[in-house]
Amino acid sequence: MDQQVKDMPLDSEKSTATAAEHFDVLIVGAGIAGIGSAYHLQQQNPETRFVVLEAQSDFGGTWHVHTYPGVRSDSDLYTFGYRFKPWDGAPVASGVEIKGYLREVIEDNGLDRHIRYHHKIVRAEWQSDAKRWTVTVNRSSDGAELVFSANFLWMCNGYYRHDGGYTPEWNGMADFKGRIVHPQQWPDDLDYEGKRVVVIGSGATAATLIPSLAPKTSHVTMLQRSPTYFIGARNVNELADLLRTFDIDPAWIHEIIRRQMLQMMRDFVGRATEDEDVVREELIAGVRAFLGEDYDIATHFTPRYRPWQQRIAFVPDGDLFKEISAGRASVETGEIECFTENGILMTSGAELAADIIVTATGFNFAPLSEIPVFVDGKAIDFSKTITYRGMMFTGVPNFFYVFGYFRASYTLRVDVLGDFVCRLLRHMDERGARVVEVELQPEERAKEPQQWVDVKDFSAGYLVRGAHLLPKRLDTEEWQHSQDYWTEVKKLPDVDLDGSAFHYS
Ligand SMILES: Cc1cc2nc3c(=O)[nH]c(=O)nc-3n(C[C@H](O)[C@H](O)[C@H](O)COP(=O)(O)OP(=O)(O)OC[C@H]3O[C@@H](n4cnc5c(N)ncnc54)[C@H](O)[C@@H]3O)c2cc1C
Repeated sequence: MDQQVKDMPLDSEKSTATAAEHFDVLIVGAGIAGIGSAYHLQQQNPETRFVVLEAQSDFGGTWHVHTYPGVRSDSDLYTFGYRFKPWDGAPVASGVEIKGYLREVIEDNGLDRHIRYHHKIVRAEWQSDAKRWTVTVNRSSDGAELVFSANFLWMCNGYYRHDGGYTPEWNGMADFKGRIVHPQQWPDDLDYEGKRVVVIGSGATAATLIPSLAPKTSHVTMLQRSPTYFIGARNVNELADLLRTFDIDPAWIHEIIRRQMLQMMRDFVGRATEDEDVVREELIAGVRAFLGEDYDIATHFTPRYRPWQQRIAFVPDGDLFKEISAGRASVETGEIECFTENGILMTSGAELAADIIVTATGFNFAPLSEIPVFVDGKAIDFSKTITYRGMMFTGVPNFFYVFGYFRASYTLRVDVLGDFVCRLLRHMDERGARVVEVELQPEERAKEPQQWVDVKDFSAGYLVRGAHLLPKRLDTEEWQHSQDYWTEVKKLPDVDLDGSAFHYS
């Protein structure tokens, strides 16, 4: 570690455009990934000087940005929580509870002194001669432009644009007299009491929002082009509740329930792959159990895709279905012809009257491309790089990216990569190396790079729209994001850091 670096004051807001503050590691983002990575770095490599730069005014990322009514996880918090911080609530948690959990992680570990809010990174440049990154930051609290330098960048910036969600363009939108709202920017003053609301979309966001809105509105319609899979179940974990009655250490309970959830997840994903038709029928039957035999399940709740080709939305206590059964919410399946003054006209000729239209239509995918990255003056186009296990990229030295799993809780990967990056940094210290780059062998260079993910395997809308932005993969385990927690958790600790993929200098 750089002695000169260690001696510098860690005084927030001190930097100026002329004097770059230097850190060993600069973590981008204080969401669930940035906070977890900061924790691991502090625990595992306590000598490392690091800073977390966050564009928003507060921590939480997704859980700070999304404030729509009812916002909650769709994973259980035993696995969506960190492995090191026990969760003691109901499995599915509200956005407020998740922020509370993250706040405790920050406070319990003194991470707040490392985080600087209102610091938006607008450019990052690697200089090979100096062997460091120079990072330009806009500080939104006073408009200052700051410069930081760091030996390593640890990108925990998530995968979507935080300043606005994705809304398709429909004809006639400007004619609509009511309000059009995207859940990612839910207005504090939105009065939906007694109003007719149409929610476009049927993913986890719509499934969350509708039961929360419905009791207050005159009616909510979930408008979908095609159906989605849901799992409705009680939001309890009986084993956790039982263990709690025995006065067992919460850390043990967390670990036991985590293993239970992971096993269940693994079995389910396995069955969904091997026994696709059986799982499809089970999922549909689960919805039928809530809505009854007379409900038109074939039209509204029978998806056209395979289970797990997209994330399956969990419906705690079947709340969405209960609102439909009670008649406060309904489902319309079909194509939108256009917006009208008073609502939406479907291609079927049906008209949906609305005072408010909510476009729960997803994210603007922005994995790495939003921050311009340069290496020795040359702009990096990440879609031209090849990824090492979905976390490092050819031609980009000293750079790590945390991108979670599609079919398992995102945070699982934060912990797994936290261990890996910390081990790699220690290894470099031991070797006396300052630069690490991943490199393809000649026979690997001859291979045809493929898209990061095969959209036939996982086809979430944001990925289909944004697949071209992502780095490429090869057909070997090393050179792709495996999407398999169970493989990674076993194999990453044993990866030979002196293997041929790594080049040190
Ligand atoms: C409503 C909702 C519910 C979800 N529920 C689940 C779930 O149950 N299970 C699951 O696995 N996944 C879920 N997800 C996916 C979720 O986004 C991830 O699980 C996780 O929260 C992502 O964490 P992150 O820290 O990587 O990214 P984010 O939460 O997106 O945080 C990234 C942070 O980086 C900051 N940042 C970005 N660019 C810059 C920059 N240039 N300069 C400085 N700071 C920057 C952002 O401001 C942000 O604070 C959900 C997503 C949403 C929207």
